[in-house]
Amino acid sequence: MSNCLFCKIAAGEIPSSKVYEDENVYAFKDIHPKAPTHVLVIPRKHVATLADCDDPALLGTLMDRVRHIADAVLGLAGGYRVIINVREGGGQEVYHLHIHILGGRKLPF
Ligand code: 5GP
Ligand code: ZN
Repeated sequence: MSNCLFCKIAAGEIPSSKVYEDENVYAFKDIHPKAPTHVLVIPRKHVATLADCDDPALLGTLMDRVRHIADAVLGLAGGYRVIINVREGGGQEVYHLHIHILGGRKLPF
């Protein structure tokens, strides 16, 4: 998607603070962090929302990478929160599927 913000970030066309990348996934710091650690994990492939993703293997890869990034890259073995906002009712602002990893302090519900 040529006009998608997160496609451009994954392609390196827009700068970001990268924390991890591989052939399927790109992860970077959220520009407006809601916790001491706030990272977004995205597929390189453009998928607008979780509701639009009909690729179980991709979802499995994303969650596996979230687990790896949180523990091995971000040092959040003590615990963290994973959030996916879905469409307008879920508060989604950027329409490229992304998984929030939040950690670094005790999170309220
Ligand atoms: P959503 O509300 O769609 O689940 O979350 C979108 C997230 O993307 C927000 O937390 C917002 O701060 C973050 N964000 C929006 N634009 C940019 C950007 O240009 N760079 C980075 N690193 N994060 C962004
Ligand atoms: Zn995209």
